[in-house]
Amino acid sequence: MQILDGKKAAQAIKDELKLDVAQLAVEGKKIPHLAAILVGNNGASETYVAAKVKSCEEVGFKSTLIRFEEDISEIKLLEKIEELNSDPDVDGILVQLPLPKHISDEQVINTVHPDKDVDGFHPESVGRMVQGLPAFVAATPYGIMLLLEHYKIDTKGKHAVVVGRSNIVGRPMSVLLSSNSPYGNCTVTICHSHTKNLKEICLQADIIVAALGRPEFVTEDMVKEGAVVIDVGITRVIDTSKKSGFKLKGDVDYENVAPKCSWITPVPGGVGPMTIGALMKNTYRACTLKN
Ligand code: NDP
Repeated sequence: MQILDGKKAAQAIKDELKLDVAQLAVEGKKIPHLAAILVGNNGASETYVAAKVKSCEEVGFKSTLIRFEEDISEIKLLEKIEELNSDPDVDGILVQLPLPKHISDEQVINTVHPDKDVDGFHPESVGRMVQGLPAFVAATPYGIMLLLEHYKIDTKGKHAVVVGRSNIVGRPMSVLLSSNSPYGNCTVTICHSHTKNLKEICLQADIIVAALGRPEFVTEDMVKEGAVVIDVGITRVIDTSKKSGFKLKGDVDYENVAPKCSWITPVPGGVGPMTIGALMKNTYRACTLKN
């Protein structure tokens, strides 16, 4: 069994971007600028946004963190996004999800200008991705594709099973793995909460992407010998022995599944860092498309 080390692969992406940014500076060109919006005080969201801002600093991007209280009105938030849309200094806009219940995710996603949609959630970005056109691809599935590329995982003709069909992970993942591209060309089965015989389907998989948000859902008896297992899940479970009071659990029972795999991602240190690496790549792209 070998580890798909997302920390290492993401560092390689960031090292490369750092050089690219330095080159932009030498040429007197614009440096990428990411604007991140955080609403409320959700602990996990705070952590993710902080990590994104830190990565911007690491690669030499400019970043702006805009914070709003939980009770900000939808209209105020949309106005801020419009302001960022028309600010020529801002290349990428990221609105950290989940948002409070009184704000529509859909409205927010649709308001971000497609040219600044570094999260790849706008319908135009999704449509372009589905058609195989150059696009901002949602950071988590894009990060997973970059991880497969980094470790040169052979995907051609393989049966990939994606568990989860959300718009931000499972569904775009299924499209990318089935696309006619170097780390695509899989035969893909997409599963969800109404799937029957999930265990039997997973047992047929050469590649499993688990993205359901249920800790240790994928167990050893669901995985065939030699499979590649990508664990997207991140759930905080109470652990009083930790200073934070919690530990992170993936959707895969790592301890028992790992010995059966050819490759597997750890949690943490697998898909999480790659998501940030992919976001950095999208932001660089948003900037240089204009340069
Ligand atoms: P969602 O809750 O939006 O989607 C979960 C999906 O899993 C749904 O399609 C749901 O099916 C399916 N599902 C739920 N229970 C089952 C079940 N018992 N059997 C089969 N399918 C099931 O989650 P997200 O896609 O947003 O996130 C999934 C996980 O990935 C979470 O733990 C999240 O924290 C993590 N995540 C990690 C990221 C990273 O950077 N590492 C980034 C984004 C997410 P249905 O549609 O029928 O309800």
